[in-house]
Amino acid sequence: MTIAELVQKVQTYDPSLDGSWLMRVYEVADTAHEGQRRASGESYIEHPLAVAGILADLEMDRQTIAAALLHDVVEDTSITTEQVASEFGEEIASLVDGVTKLTRIPYQSKEEAQVENLRKMFMAMAKDIRVIIIKLADRLHNMRTLGSLADAKQQAIARETLDIYTPIAHRLGIWKIKWEMEDLCLRYIDPEGYREIVERVAKTRQERERNVAEAIRRLESDFKDLGINAEIQGRPKHFYSIYTKMKKGRDFSTIYDLTAIRIIVDSVKDCYATLGAVHALWTPLPGRFKDYIAMPKPNMYQSLHTTVVGPEGEPLEIQIRTWEMHRTSEYGIAAHWRYKEGGKVDQFENKLSWLRALLEWQKDMRDSRVFMENLKLDLFDSQVFIFSPRGDVFSMPAGGTPLDFAYNVHTDVGNHCVGARVNGRIVPLDHTLQNGDICEILVNKSSGHPSLDWLSIVKTSSAKHKIKQWFRKERREENVLVGQEAIERELARQHIGFSTLSGEVIEKIAARMNYTTPADLYAAVGFGDQSAQSIANRIKDELKSNNVVDFQTITRPPSVSRRVARKTSGIRIAGVDDVLVRLSKCCSPVPGDPIIGYVTIGKGVSVHRADCPNVAYMTATPERMLEATWAGKTEILHAVDIEIEALDRPQLLQDAMAVFAELKTQVSSVTARVKRDRHALVSLTVQIRDLEHLHQILRKLETLKEVRRVYRVTKREAKSS
Ligand code: MN
Repeated sequence: MTIAELVQKVQTYDPSLDGSWLMRVYEVADTAHEGQRRASGESYIEHPLAVAGILADLEMDRQTIAAALLHDVVEDTSITTEQVASEFGEEIASLVDGVTKLTRIPYQSKEEAQVENLRKMFMAMAKDIRVIIIKLADRLHNMRTLGSLADAKQQAIARETLDIYTPIAHRLGIWKIKWEMEDLCLRYIDPEGYREIVERVAKTRQERERNVAEAIRRLESDFKDLGINAEIQGRPKHFYSIYTKMKKGRDFSTIYDLTAIRIIVDSVKDCYATLGAVHALWTPLPGRFKDYIAMPKPNMYQSLHTTVVGPEGEPLEIQIRTWEMHRTSEYGIAAHWRYKEGGKVDQFENKLSWLRALLEWQKDMRDSRVFMENLKLDLFDSQVFIFSPRGDVFSMPAGGTPLDFAYNVHTDVGNHCVGARVNGRIVPLDHTLQNGDICEILVNKSSGHPSLDWLSIVKTSSAKHKIKQWFRKERREENVLVGQEAIERELARQHIGFSTLSGEVIEKIAARMNYTTPADLYAAVGFGDQSAQSIANRIKDELKSNNVVDFQTITRPPSVSRRVARKTSGIRIAGVDDVLVRLSKCCSPVPGDPIIGYVTIGKGVSVHRADCPNVAYMTATPERMLEATWAGKTEILHAVDIEIEALDRPQLLQDAMAVFAELKTQVSSVTARVKRDRHALVSLTVQIRDLEHLHQILRKLETLKEVRRVYRVTKREAKSS
């Protein structure tokens, strides 16, 4: 093809095209590629010209044709995307840019999931579907001219084409490209198998053509009588589909498609009339009729399919469709970029086609809502695809960081991450990854470990979860305590005396559950891997089987008196005399707060604020809850944790300290942190006389400049109480 021929071809469907404009695009490409040759020896410009020709066959719009002429200049010559934009406009430049990006996607792995990710990446990266269509035409032409490359290269390119490109052509419904590509691939991947099929098809051709000709003759006369204007074609053979059917064990002679007829008519009404005529003429085979007009395939394909017993008694497959349907079946999504008289391409329709094509991706997803969510991911670019240095591709939510990527690769990689390199450059861990980045994670197996601020860096919940998990396991000592207490609490709830939790019994149970020591078992309960209840049940069973009858019931302590408990505590516990009272650390009650008492095992009565979140689990054992009140004024000071949230500014801390000095309040500890967004958090422990004193302080602090919130801290996790 020459450029003059190309211009002429495009003008047949886009008559208003200015030929000299397309000529100029061609000149720029030709000059840029000057001196470059393809492996076949022809000058390089033949390739983009041929690609543009393939797209003109699809009747693509002029921007697509121009972008096809320029599709290799950014990748292979000194011309930049910006230069293309200033010469021919943003639209064409962005198409060329898209094709260039797709060209750079490496393909290595043949693993199923990897290949699927690559295909999705292809779709996601091309914001404009025309980019994909150009890329398909580019690959088709490369396949047509594959013969001049070395054998190994032919194999690799044909493999890649079958893995990535033909499924995409299939999903976009562009059969014309898909079929030719598949047949070309087969030729290089299994030359023997290809030759065999070509020969067998050729051998039976005469007989088949005679059958088809006879069938067509019969139909034509019937249609004349019915007044239907129809074009009847013998259907062209597609070697690759025969090949795959034979691979599945089908015999060559039973593959119906070998004898097939396509009838193209003017209207949908004529389609059904034609079907009636066909079925009146020949007996239809049961179960072979499909109405894709009423129920189009997700890629918009429409036709009536039926198989009948033909004139010679052989199965004859017949497709019936309108011209419009024929176009869609050949060109798929590309059919929707056809030049429209007097206007631009309908953007909404393009979007719709794009949506429909995506439908096919999610075929196996049952829940339509989940499907829509995933669809959104693809459409709104909220997914990015990141490569490992080995070339494996991982998909992750947009906005992800190298840490998210590291945890995505493997938990161990995440936990030992000490740094990251993106496209060869060292980046901070909170760097935002971009589509197509190559991310290398630097690990140190001996000293690398998660840090708490990673929780504010990572964007994926799975990475967050893994970091939390690491800390949970790392805080073993704490977990051992929490676990032991949970078991004790559970035993108490079931009225089993704590004294029965003897070393011997728990050791036995731990060993039986494959824990090395009782501490390991407690830790497992602490992490939440085991439930305290199931362990308590095992203990109960163990005691029963050993005939240990020691189910001593925990009740309220027996002695009853109205005396104030411990003078120094300043707390009165109803009905309890002479008992050890502790103010709980989780909520730090001060005189004036409504409070309650709780009987702990071996540690006396702990006193909580009535609104302490930890009171919730105490209500499970109401028999251990006691009324408590403050016993009048005392001079005792109570340590209370408070926090100030503010926008960081000079003098903030000094101003706060001035408030404490003014109110004669002792501060026993202070920590200030400033986050990246200038958000400052000041944590203090102050000595408080009573609620009024505390409120005075909080109110005063709130009036300071740039202070957002001041509040008393209550620890959520249940402490030993
Ligand atoms: Mn190319």
